Amino acid sequence: MQKQQVYLDHGATSPLRKEALEAMLPFLQDKYGNPSSLHSPGREVRKAVERAREETALALGAAPEEIFFTSGGTEANNIAIKGAARARRGKGHLITSSIEHHAVLDVCRELAGEGHEVTVVPVDRHGLVALETVAQAIRPETFLITIMMANNEVGTVEPVAEIGALARERGILFHTDAVQAVGQLPVDLRKMKVDLLSLSAHKFNGPKGVGALYRRRGTPVAPLYGGGGQERQLRPGTENVPGIIGLTRALTLAVAELPEKSERLKKLRDRLIKGLLELGDAVLNGHPSARLPGNVNVSFNYIEGEALLLGLDLEGIAASSGSACTSGSLEPSHVLTAMGLDLQLARGSLRLTLGRGNSDSCVDYLLAVLAPLVDRLRKMSALYPGQY
Ligand SMILES: *Cc1c(COP(=O)(O)O)cnc(C)c1O
Repeated sequence: MQKQQVYLDHGATSPLRKEALEAMLPFLQDKYGNPSSLHSPGREVRKAVERAREETALALGAAPEEIFFTSGGTEANNIAIKGAARARRGKGHLITSSIEHHAVLDVCRELAGEGHEVTVVPVDRHGLVALETVAQAIRPETFLITIMMANNEVGTVEPVAEIGALARERGILFHTDAVQAVGQLPVDLRKMKVDLLSLSAHKFNGPKGVGALYRRRGTPVAPLYGGGGQERQLRPGTENVPGIIGLTRALTLAVAELPEKSERLKKLRDRLIKGLLELGDAVLNGHPSARLPGNVNVSFNYIEGEALLLGLDLEGIAASSGSACTSGSLEPSHVLTAMGLDLQLARGSLRLTLGRGNSDSCVDYLLAVLAPLVDRLRKMSALYPGQY
């Protein structure tokens, strides 16, 4: 079999699309003015940034003044959550879930250290947050609920429409980390009861190091940094102009292509899942139907995910596992653990995330490479029942 280079890690990052790069190039070269400058080169760039803001708002069903460009998803989450906490007088209570990205969990932990109370609601075995669990966690002093729109590891799509409606009804702010959702699922802020939403360009074929925070009009969020007056003081610092232009182009195209791309990826995803489960002693992680179109997460019994990753890498396949090798020990993912997966299965997880460049031939190649690899690794495992 001919060795191929196959990228199946779009959940980690996705390649910059050509149209976004082309839109960015002038701003990396001739159009270098500072958008805050009063001279013509500055004013020209200012105009481009504000046009980008309008286009980004349009793609999300928001108003331009509700869009704040940031350095990515992590920063948007930080500004939303810490900013909402700082905007209120006195300590309060916030609710999050056990499967959030570290950029949300760490921030909540930090706020807990500052005297706020935090409830981390559990998920079911599919990684789903139940509306009732969130409702039960609400207290009189609850000021914020932050639950992700879709999970980055297992792809489970959370009921954010219902959670947002609940929060609105109780007069509580609702933030959602939509970094995995934007460009993969329809996001229309006119229909959603969301006060704060985070997104990141590099997850939808835009450039790295740029994202946005949507803040519904009137939502109290205090800035985290002092500095110039950029982004209406919520995110001071000279704007990443090429990044903002690239984000906007990638977002507009991703939204336009969404229905077609999502159908295509779902077919590939389901073929891939079927093929992987046929290898035997494997389970699908995440929700069987409420899942991102491009997400596949499977655990193989008797195998370590890291060994799979390295084996795949040798054959030109880029994938991801649910465990991270920290200080020499395999730490299983907090998401898989929160879903109640036993340690062995959590360690044997493999995440394959599909994107624009993937086609049936990528799935064929992956399956052809994986079958003998799984076989070989199992034969090496002392735990494998077939072992003598
Ligand atoms: C990638 C990711 C982030 C972080 O975004 P950056 O732009 O890389 O900082 C946050 N949340 C989720 C769910 C993600 O997948």
